[in-house]
Amino acid sequence: MSKIVQQDILQQLQQLQRVAQTALAQANTTEATREWYSEYLSRKGRLTSILRNLGSLSAEERPLVGKVANEVKAVLENALQERQTSIAQAELEAVRRAESVDVTLPGRPQNLGKLHITTRVLRDIYAIFTAMGFQIYDSPEVETDEYNFQLLNIPPGHPARDMWDTFYTTTPGLILRTHTSPGQIHAMREYAPEPIRVILPGKCYRYEAVDASHESMFYQVEGLAIGKHITFSDLKGVLINFANQMYGEGRKARFRKSYFPFTEPSVEMDIECVLCGGKGCPVCKYSGWLEMLGAGMVHPRVLQNGGYDPTEFSGFAFGMGPDRIALQKYGIDDIRYFFTNDARLFERV
Ligand SMILES: [Zn+2]
Repeated sequence: MSKIVQQDILQQLQQLQRVAQTALAQANTTEATREWYSEYLSRKGRLTSILRNLGSLSAEERPLVGKVANEVKAVLENALQERQTSIAQAELEAVRRAESVDVTLPGRPQNLGKLHITTRVLRDIYAIFTAMGFQIYDSPEVETDEYNFQLLNIPPGHPARDMWDTFYTTTPGLILRTHTSPGQIHAMREYAPEPIRVILPGKCYRYEAVDASHESMFYQVEGLAIGKHITFSDLKGVLINFANQMYGEGRKARFRKSYFPFTEPSVEMDIECVLCGGKGCPVCKYSGWLEMLGAGMVHPRVLQNGGYDPTEFSGFAFGMGPDRIALQKYGIDDIRYFFTNDARLFERV
């Protein structure tokens, strides 16, 4: 009787091992292996419940059954450990694959920035004038009233000062420059009595009511050439050459008489409208012409203030607005876009 019970339990153990191994092979996740453990090997599991019958065996029968039960338990525990290791590896591999970079995919294009339109125009201006032998001369943005006005033939009370209302610092007589022209005096005083050819680029400030074509901060590029035989023809030659390179060969230019306190005679230079080719459009106000710059022969008093003898030396000067050139060249209708940080402005150039 008890022999049959022993055989029975041994059979049950072998069957349990087979069933458990089959079930383990189908457990594909860590969670499923935990459930499997609880079903077969835990204290409430199927192996324990078989061993509960050990009590019905004789003292001689128990060791064999106990030995077999321990073997089954060891086999199943080893199998569980192997299974868990391989599932953990597979799960890790799946995560790695999901997060991995596919090097065969085409790259995403980088969104590159662009230079500001004014910067590009400034660089074009530098390139054209340096090719004609002009140096780039840097001068301060904070100036004295003397440099900004008086040495340029604009004494206190001169009516021309009305055109140059500016910002004052808390130090009396110290202002934000209204034009790059004070740089002329700095350059002359540095080089006199040597001949000079310089351009003076930089920011200028005016107390302006801001609108589509006026900002309180803007760029200017001043030019100055001084030597012993410089004439108005040199001025025209240099500026027409500049206009041809900036706007394209053969574009018509014209000079109109004008007035600046620091040049005599003074002119304004216009070029044929770049947008309508001279036919007339809203940008050129239907005149066919665009104002490009102001220029003239350096006033003898300014030459003298710079350290040159006006009976021996002559020179010409000019000043242009790169912001305005950029507006014209790229057909932009409002200077305020230049400071609004809207990158779409640069898409069109
Ligand atoms: Zn036009």
